Amino acid sequence: MEILDKFQGSLLGVAIGDTLGRPFEGKLRSEIYANFNTFEEFIQNKKNLFKTYTDDTQLTLHTAEALIRGNGFNLNNFISEYIKWLDDPPIGAGYGCISSIRKLKYGIPWENAASNSGGNGTAMRIAPIGLFYYKDFKGLKSAAIKSSILTHSHPAASAGSIVIASAIAYLIDKDPKLRFSVDQFFDVIISSISGSQEEIWEEFVEILNKLKSNLHVSIKAGLIKFSQIGVKSPFFIEDYLGHAFVHPYAISTVVCSIFIFLKKLNSFRDCIFELATAGGDSDTVGAIGGSLAGAYFGLKNIPNDLIKLVKDYKKILKISEELHKKFELRY
Ligand SMILES: [Mg+2]
Repeated sequence: MEILDKFQGSLLGVAIGDTLGRPFEGKLRSEIYANFNTFEEFIQNKKNLFKTYTDDTQLTLHTAEALIRGNGFNLNNFISEYIKWLDDPPIGAGYGCISSIRKLKYGIPWENAASNSGGNGTAMRIAPIGLFYYKDFKGLKSAAIKSSILTHSHPAASAGSIVIASAIAYLIDKDPKLRFSVDQFFDVIISSISGSQEEIWEEFVEILNKLKSNLHVSIKAGLIKFSQIGVKSPFFIEDYLGHAFVHPYAISTVVCSIFIFLKKLNSFRDCIFELATAGGDSDTVGAIGGSLAGAYFGLKNIPNDLIKLVKDYKKILKISEELHKKFELRY
């Protein structure tokens, strides 16, 4: 198993899922599917819709750069990398990230700058931490929490980050030809947030157990079931009850991303197509699910046409290489 190939696959997976999902952000799954017979054909005919990725990939790359600079997690490097993102400039930024990072830029200490958002803005950028710390669970968990609370002080956001980073760490040395044990996968992600005193983490554990016992349902039925799971009033979107429309809350997005990934383990292409057309926060489901699919399938199983769809894929491959080099030096 080539680990570098998995690093590259995971970061490129984020960018591909984000790029493919961007035109469908905020749309119902049913609206998205009304546009085409096959998604593949749609991509070929509407190339101009897929010209860029969004904040998910931008912040993932800044997370990677921060780890590279610091040979691991370093608070000041993370703060300065996230501030640099403001000059990218941000594409399709979520409230939790943009409001807190602007405050960081003006010198407000991170403890006061962080928003109380439980949004998916930290799980969407966590892939580099899952990769770099894949052999070191303690380091992974600590870096996932510290990098998350910088911008999102809500416990749902840090839990979502730990779960996704742990999932990536689990998948990285699995061979897609041999598959993996789904039970073991759930053991790993559930135990990553178990046994805390935190009520929301315990609720997340219950939801992951529920997901595990619902893997037999169709993708559409599962998305209807899990699109707003865990979302509390007043954030609940009444109008989208009974529809596939993934809410940008950390728990709902992470659960839907894992669900689709596990339903489509046959190929990277099938998997990423389903992720990016989930409905609701489609670009972020694409990015988070893409980080898992890429870590599992690896770069060599990602079709060339999808790699080339990403506007600066060469830069992403280079950053992945640098991150892998730092990982090798450290571990
Ligand atoms: Mg986005």
